[in-house]
Amino acid sequence: MTKDTKNNKNKKPKFNMYWIYGGAIVLFIVVQVLGGTGFDETNPTTPSEFMTYLKDGDVDKVEIVNRREAKVYLTPEAEAKDVHKKSKPTSLLPTATKLPNYRFEFGDLQNFEDDIANVIQTENLNPKPQIEYKTEQNAWGDFLIGLLPFVLLIGVWIFIMKRMSGGAGGGAGSQIFNIGKSRAKLFDENTDVKTSFKDVAGLEGAKEEVQEIVDFLKNPEKYTNLGGKIPKGALLVGPPGTGKTLLAKAVAGEAKVPFFSLSGSDFVEMFVGVGASRVRDLFKQAKEKSPAIIFIDEIDAIGRARGKNNMSGSNDERENTLNQLLTEMDGFGTNTNVIVLAATNRADVLDKALMRAGRFDRQIFVDLPDVRERKEIFEVHLRPLKKAEDLDLDFLSKQTPGFSGADIANVCNEAALIAARNGKKAVDKQDFLDAVDRIVGGLEKKNKIITPGEKKAVAFHEAGHATVSWMLEHAAPLVKVTIVPRGRSLGAAWYLPEERLIVRPEQMLDEMCAALGGRAAEKVIFNQISTGALSDLEKVTKQARAMVTVYGLSDKVGNLTYYDSSGQNEYGFTKPYSEKTSELIDNEISRIIEEQYQRAINLLEENKDKLTELADVLLEKEVIFKDNLEKIFGKRSFDGPIIAGEEE
Ligand code: ADP
Repeated sequence: MTKDTKNNKNKKPKFNMYWIYGGAIVLFIVVQVLGGTGFDETNPTTPSEFMTYLKDGDVDKVEIVNRREAKVYLTPEAEAKDVHKKSKPTSLLPTATKLPNYRFEFGDLQNFEDDIANVIQTENLNPKPQIEYKTEQNAWGDFLIGLLPFVLLIGVWIFIMKRMSGGAGGGAGSQIFNIGKSRAKLFDENTDVKTSFKDVAGLEGAKEEVQEIVDFLKNPEKYTNLGGKIPKGALLVGPPGTGKTLLAKAVAGEAKVPFFSLSGSDFVEMFVGVGASRVRDLFKQAKEKSPAIIFIDEIDAIGRARGKNNMSGSNDERENTLNQLLTEMDGFGTNTNVIVLAATNRADVLDKALMRAGRFDRQIFVDLPDVRERKEIFEVHLRPLKKAEDLDLDFLSKQTPGFSGADIANVCNEAALIAARNGKKAVDKQDFLDAVDRIVGGLEKKNKIITPGEKKAVAFHEAGHATVSWMLEHAAPLVKVTIVPRGRSLGAAWYLPEERLIVRPEQMLDEMCAALGGRAAEKVIFNQISTGALSDLEKVTKQARAMVTVYGLSDKVGNLTYYDSSGQNEYGFTKPYSEKTSELIDNEISRIIEEQYQRAINLLEENKDKLTELADVLLEKEVIFKDNLEKIFGKRSFDGPIIAGEEE
């Protein structure tokens, strides 16, 4: 039976039920309205008229309702009289009981009873009219109150029914009955995915690996014939914005096999057990459609290393989800042809069990692009732009060290926006440079209020950085210095750092010295220091601490490290070293920094005149480039050809 016919079958009786309920309610109301005692059309009369009827012996029975109202029933003979012709009760519905002929309100009950007794006595009526007492309630109020629970029940029932049937259409998925279903989005041959490998620039190694995965799924025999096993999964690891998701999208676009895409956080819900059930459902769906690819973005949301001591003592939902994922990936059926791709920028925190061979067999590193790759990424993102003819891509890619693919995409877009704002016909080099500045430093704040004194301090601070880094062999070559406030900073010196895979202590020390050059310049020139060096100090302190505790570069502390690459350190509350060592570490950090500060001061004292000259140029021009520095200092002796590299 197909799903549709099932639905129809379900729908019919449901529809009928509504009618039955509706009909019952309508009938109830009609009976109440038309047949209810409060709504019969009894003729009104007055107490005095009633007394005459009583005297005449026409009254058979008086019903006193709620001690307030009297209903009068006439004798059959009296009903035949002319005066009472009109009093014959009429009702729209036939009723078994006799209806009253008259009704009226008497004031005080006691008086009324006395009056009746009087009349009976004086007139000596026989038979005596009966007097009955009755309490009647407000029929409508009772009716509505009685109905309320039914209305509520039916309302809740309809609500639940609606939610259930909404889920059948594969809707938003917030339905309570679908909570354990996987939230993966499916791309298959019917879905139009426009991304292809052509859109992924650079990343040759990574591209090759994922292309191979696509190939595994398309021609598994090619590999299995030789006895090889198809890998279960591949983990894309790299900093944010380097194109991991893009790569996965390209796989979806090119694989021509069903592609399930979801994010690690899609497994998480506030209910216990949902994550695991979603994992099961996801793999079940994928196996049904195999060969298939499952892509889990940001897998660290669930793949984080399982803790040893669960502090809360509760059942950890995330661990259950991860366990289920491990089980599914390791499952018995090897040849199900489901490959799991996952992306993360925190491979260090992932559980080791997840990374072992047999699960994510392959780790594909997607690194920040180098200068050549940046050029290719620029090419991809410049395609849709109207650019100036003389745009130099090499120059642009050199100016953007440390930029990720996402940053470059952003630069291209910003440049186009800046050009449009300035009413240009094409996007030119200056727009790109402005865009880079903006992305690195934030929005220019030309109208930020700075006193001339502050401006001078900023100029000397930045000139200090520039001077020291110019003088030191291993400090990164300078690109530009600016004292235009941007974002939260008041000025900046930009460098083009070398690409280094291993760093030697003297290189680190030179960099620290240059970073301290700003504060040193303030000290040398004004003999005062300021809070402006906060970010420099932060950087330097971190670097010094890393030298001592991570890289083992301090003689006194020795060749040891307190770094734990597994990311599973549970040091939280206890340090892995003694109090004595901790004192030693502090002393070493402080010694390293103070030495470099002193070195910067000495350098600046020696070159005070050049520093002042540079600061003056800076105050005048606000932005200066390498050329201006060369004019003041002469060529930098140790500058080889610049290999563009990473940003600091
Ligand atoms: P992440 O690695 O964080 O998943 P994304 O894949 O989401 O990064 O990349 C974000 C955007 O950056 C992409 O949509 C794309 O525009 C751009 N981008 C990143 N890397 C590249 C690349 N190698 N080639 C072209 N564009 C890229």
